[in-house]
This record gives sequence, structure tokens and C-alpha cells, in this order.
Amino acid sequence: MPATPAWPPRSAPRLYVEADLGAGAHVPVEGNAAHYLLSVMRIGEGDAVLLFNGRDGEWAARAGSIRKRDLVLECVEQTKPLETVPDFWLCAAPIKKGRIDLVMEKATELGVARILPVLTARCVVDKLNADRLGAQMIEAAEQCGRTAVPELAEMVKLEALLRDWPQGRTLFFADELGGAAMRDAYTAHPGPGALLIGPEGGFTTQERDAIRAHPAAVPLSLGPRILRAETAAIAAAACWMSLNGDWSG
Ligand code: SAM
Repeated sequence: MPATPAWPPRSAPRLYVEADLGAGAHVPVEGNAAHYLLSVMRIGEGDAVLLFNGRDGEWAARAGSIRKRDLVLECVEQTKPLETVPDFWLCAAPIKKGRIDLVMEKATELGVARILPVLTARCVVDKLNADRLGAQMIEAAEQCGRTAVPELAEMVKLEALLRDWPQGRTLFFADELGGAAMRDAYTAHPGPGALLIGPEGGFTTQERDAIRAHPAAVPLSLGPRILRAETAAIAAAACWMSLNGDWSG
């Protein structure tokens, strides 16, 4: 006898929605998301779509009442609980479009909880399009199977970041002029952490001194080569996830 095919199929598209999810919940989908499901993924009545909203885990939903430009999905069963997000923030100076998009995408894939853009003296970019960056993170979360999207905080000046730094959170400062070896620094501070990465032009001497003088700061070396800001952010976040985050199992 042929085996009953698994439902939802592994190929079911994943979609981030704002609506509450739960057994029997009806989720209307329109606009770009509907276009993606109907025209790109060719979803038909009865087909499965995986939904998440950052609060209720992941739900398998069935497509019903399909119209030309919108559809309604009905939640059937929970397929994943809400993930436990490793307590790791990325504090990064804004960098050029394209490069910052890469950081948003990779930080989401790596499991970062919160991204804080930090304005420093040598930033060549001083404005960010939060909607565009938010969309990048949602797309990355849809693709990688996350059930939570990182929080994108408002941009803050470095001075304010240091002044308002929360107690109990280590600030790993990626300092191209030298610091502790990454493994030593990360394993010596296993609790809540954050990584601070400078802009294309690096930090000024005054900024470096202020960061190094902060009681939560742990200067970190990322090796003998000067990495681009986006490489530094992605590489150092990956190492934290491996040593202190959720890559152990
Ligand atoms: N100031 C540097 C220069 O002018 O040569 C370039 C800065 S680098 C492109 C951007 C940021 O990446 C730095 O501020 C630092 O946070 C991080 N970074 C890059 N390479 C690093 C390394 N080898 N060790 C620690 N941090 C590094």
C-alpha cells in the first residue's frame, strides 16, 4: 500500500504574517505575500503554507477561498514551538546598502536576537531604511526556518549606547588594533552578550578609549587581517553562536 504523504509537505512555502496564529485561526493574505503564494508558488485550494509571526511558533495552514489577488489560510496544526533565541545582540555601525543588507540577512540566519545600529564618528551612512532592513530580516527568517525575527532597534549614537548599556551584558568589542583571542573571550563570558563592530573607517582613538574604559567591554581580536565590517560582524557572530549559543546540539 502506498504510504500516506506527509502533511504539510517539506516543500510547503513559509510566510511571516502579523496575524495571531492558533488552531482554526483564519489568516487573510494579500498584496506581495498573496502574489508570492498564488503566482510564484502556485498555491491552490487545500495546499499547505507554513506560517509564523514571531509569537506563536510555526503553524501549518491550509489554503481556502482563493481569489485572484488574495486568499485566506486556515491554521491546522502547530509544526514548531516558538524558538528560544540565544541572548546575543549585534551592535553595528551602519554601512553601505548591499553590505548592511548582507549583515541583516546573515545575522538573522545565525540566530541573533537584536540588532542595534550604532552611529560613530566615521560612519559614512547616517540613515537607515528600517522598512527595507526589516523586510530583509523577515525574508531571511522565512528561508532559514526561524520562528522569530530579530528586533531592529532605533539607531543610537555610540556615546548613548555606552551610557545606557544594560548591566549584566558583556560588550564584545571587535578591535582591529588587538584584543583577546575570540575563544578565550567568549568562553570566559558565557552569559548575555553583544558584539560591537565599527564602520568602514573603524573607530576613532577617542571612541576606542571610551569603549575600552567601559566596565562591560571585552576587546576582541578577529585575527591578523583587517576584515570588512560585514565580514567581521558575520564571522564574530557565528563564533559566538558556536561557543555560547545554540549550535551545540
Ligand atoms: N580602521 C580600519 C582601517 O582603516 O584599516 C578598518 C575598520 S574595519 C573595515 C571595520 C570594523 O571591523 C572594525 O572597526 C572592527 O570592529 C572590525 N574588525 C575588522 N577586522 C578586525 C580584526 N582583525 N579584529 C577585530 N576587529 C576587526
